[in-house]
Amino acid sequence: MKRDAANPKGHSQWTPFQDELEPANKSGRLANPSVIPLFDVAALPDRARFVVVGAGVHGMSTAWHLAMSLERSGKGKGSEVVLIDKQGPGAGATGVACGCIRNFYMTGPLHAILRESVAVWESDPVNFGFQQVGYISVGEANQEADYVKLHKSQKDNGYASDLYVGREAKAFLTSLWPDFKTANCDVVLHEKPSGYAGTHLAVWGLDQKCRQWGVQRVYGAEVTGYDMANGTVNGVITDRGRIGVDEAVVVSAGGWMPIHWDWLGRASKLDVTYPDGHREDDMDMWTFWRLLEGEVYLPDGVDFRTADGRDSPVLHVELMNTPVLGGDGRELQDHVYWYTRYAAERVGAPGLQGGTIPVKLGPEAVLEPYGHLNDRYQADDWFADYYCTVAGMLFERFETLRGHFKERRNGGIGAFTPDNVPVFDWVADNAFMTADSNHGFKMIGVGKLVANMLVQGEMPAALRPFGLERYRTGATFGDRNSNCPWV
Ligand SMILES: Cc1cc2nc3c(=O)[nH]c(=O)nc-3n(C[C@H](O)[C@H](O)[C@H](O)COP(=O)(O)OP(=O)(O)OC[C@H]3O[C@@H](n4cnc5c(N)ncnc54)[C@H](O)[C@@H]3O)c2cc1C
Repeated sequence: MKRDAANPKGHSQWTPFQDELEPANKSGRLANPSVIPLFDVAALPDRARFVVVGAGVHGMSTAWHLAMSLERSGKGKGSEVVLIDKQGPGAGATGVACGCIRNFYMTGPLHAILRESVAVWESDPVNFGFQQVGYISVGEANQEADYVKLHKSQKDNGYASDLYVGREAKAFLTSLWPDFKTANCDVVLHEKPSGYAGTHLAVWGLDQKCRQWGVQRVYGAEVTGYDMANGTVNGVITDRGRIGVDEAVVVSAGGWMPIHWDWLGRASKLDVTYPDGHREDDMDMWTFWRLLEGEVYLPDGVDFRTADGRDSPVLHVELMNTPVLGGDGRELQDHVYWYTRYAAERVGAPGLQGGTIPVKLGPEAVLEPYGHLNDRYQADDWFADYYCTVAGMLFERFETLRGHFKERRNGGIGAFTPDNVPVFDWVADNAFMTADSNHGFKMIGVGKLVANMLVQGEMPAALRPFGLERYRTGATFGDRNSNCPWV
């Protein structure tokens, strides 16, 4: 999409709090800005007990919970935590995410991570912009067994959901949305605690919680390396000088993780063993994927409400054997993969935001500028046709959406792990990495678990399955029946 794409409401596409239609320039290159205004930014101190790198959802959640936990336990002060970001809160994936919060994962151990995370979203829904509208996932019969397993695992993990199969699935869908077209919809899971959060508000809430608990928030300082000796990080090097580390570093660098991984002396290739015993040698530790998302205005007289007038749950539909045909009969894709949420706060008017399966790029990507700024990684032109066509395949009310697609820049990439499942683990004696494989906006509770570990000294059970060891021992994940890497 071109930089001068139509923007009928004249919204700033870059910085909502500054009246700029063009992005900022930092040292001669376009820089993805913080999505919130910055207050009380600290100077880089000489030393800190804890240094957290990256003010995305994981870095901010970790810094906030760490500071709060130190203060409450009497084991330290919030100001012993320093949070560093080269731009500011939300300048990475967190600021551009769709904001869907769900527990629809065929990787069972993620269910506990999401239970912990929804507890954090629920702890302050107003300041996080959390809308607990629920989440509905729809599949064909070929996924029925996966849904049954997933539903049981959610139940075992204390995450409330209902499963509907066959005729019951269709009846449930039309009871919610009478105009829903249920062809090929054979199985439905309804997660009650899930929903969505407006990403800018969530970023604001997290930054203010860090501020409230005394975290030294150093924004505008870029980490350029780690000062290491014998496997320990003694200091973090930045373009504003070095900060000594007294206890631990948490690296939450999102899409930039491969660079930090390299600085921490880790290998870019690894051998990966799977539960069935087969091994794949020399796999890339990191693979970039490009997301395909977009927004659409709701035409006058059209809403996305349920039959009883409530906000609709977030909706995810994967019909692996159902092709999507354009108006001229041409096949746009040989499958349906579509997710949507009500997104007035994002669209700037009543509207929807959603997407489809991301596109694999490979081990290299150009990270600067990030997100909507990078011309290379905008949603493809076919995406608008596909998104609106599927909307019309599923709902009578959405049959004429195409003319209302919001022609704005929509981009973003992420670094995925070898099995597309997060890695939360120590990467040096005193450096912990939160790498969510680019589907972890929802996983706001990981920072709480990491903070508990740092203050109490023991890794919480929910984090344990996500260690790097799994690739060596054969506990690698990947047992999922979906076209999408984040199911
Ligand atoms: C378009 C898009 C849509 C998405 N939709 C969803 C969704 O609906 N639901 C969901 O759960 N997930 C979604 N995701 C994934 C989710 O956004 C990410 O997994 C999550 O936000 C990553 O958070 P993070 O804290 O790890 O990284 P980020 O948010 O990327 O934050 C990393 C921060 O580190 C900083 N940084 C990096 N390197 C340095 C350095 N050298 N020095 C200083 N600072 C540095 C960056 O400036 C950045 O602010 C989406 C992602 C994209 C791209």
